[in-house]
Amino acid sequence: AMAMEPPKIHRLEPSVVNRIAAGEVIQRPTSSVKELVENSLDAGSTSISVVVKDGGLKLIQVSDNGHGIRFEDLPILCERHTTSKLSAYEDLQSIKSMGFRGEALASMTFVGHVTVTTITEGQMHGYRVSYRDGVMEHEPRPCAAVKGTQIMVENLFYNMTARRKTLQSSNDDYTKIVDLISRFAIHNVDVSFSCRKHGMNRADVHTSGSCSRLDAIRSVYGLAVARDLMEITASDDDPSRSIFNMNGFISNANYIAKKTTMVLYINDRLVECTALKRAIEIIYAATLPKASKPFIYMSIILPSEHVDVNVHPTKREVSLLNQENIVESMQGAIESKLMSSNTTRMFQTQT
Ligand code: ADP
Ligand code: MG
Repeated sequence: AMAMEPPKIHRLEPSVVNRIAAGEVIQRPTSSVKELVENSLDAGSTSISVVVKDGGLKLIQVSDNGHGIRFEDLPILCERHTTSKLSAYEDLQSIKSMGFRGEALASMTFVGHVTVTTITEGQMHGYRVSYRDGVMEHEPRPCAAVKGTQIMVENLFYNMTARRKTLQSSNDDYTKIVDLISRFAIHNVDVSFSCRKHGMNRADVHTSGSCSRLDAIRSVYGLAVARDLMEITASDDDPSRSIFNMNGFISNANYIAKKTTMVLYINDRLVECTALKRAIEIIYAATLPKASKPFIYMSIILPSEHVDVNVHPTKREVSLLNQENIVESMQGAIESKLMSSNTTRMFQTQT
């Protein structure tokens, strides 16, 4: 048989490249909400509200009272790789903001319709402008605005038929969005969060922005959860091992659930660490008589050089330097907390 002709190699159109890349950064409506809320937090907001229509496919709207966006920056706001947060690669080591790669807003404009309304301190009025494929659709228009920024993403994945179909039929992104905002709300207790469906008065997540961690957990996850939590702290400053500081809330022996809830922050970033989650589940199974899965809120502070933040935007799974040591220390702290609370309970029932 004749050998097959080699196919011609050509360069992809930038619009194709951008749409493919954007579809990776913004995988589903939840990814978009995460990026927008992180931007609001980076902007120093103390109030963030999220409105969602059709699981985020029709509309995602995030409003904040942060520092706003400068008028001069609006033309490049949604271009790829434009950011106010990072300049030199070395800055990554010590970066405190959640964002830094300047990809999120751009990505949303390649797979949806983005409208930004923003006002900065001391301005008489704000500006509103819509974006498509990284660029402004028109000059920014003056408009009335309250302090901060509101970003609207409409018709997400309008140009990705297969993705839209899959998401439409699954229809559970609103649940995922509520779960995400819940996780943000119980960590950032100085920020008032709300999350609701478009057209609904009632918010499905609501925090006041001025309450204790336990109060925030109570208003987000309910009384039944908050009632069965214990505060936990642990630290290790022996430099020959690994330096860390941990505080959190973990469920006690009375708590009953079929699924583990693990809200994990490392250096104030919401992350996932499967190894740590499994290790904690093992301790619970071994220590408590009832085979309940735990509720864990845990915030761990590590030296920034022990955490690599330069991972793909969607990869929430972290790996840490000295991970085994840290997992072991957390297991130890949780085990002794569970043991001591169990003993207290026994003594109480005996007397
Ligand atoms: P990154 O967060 O990685 O910098 P983004 O694409 O998410 O990239 O945002 C680009 C820039 O737009 C940010 O660096 C920030 O200056 C500005 N920005 C985005 N959202 C907000 C907001 N809600 N308030 C103020 N500035 C914002
Ligand atoms: Mg960002």
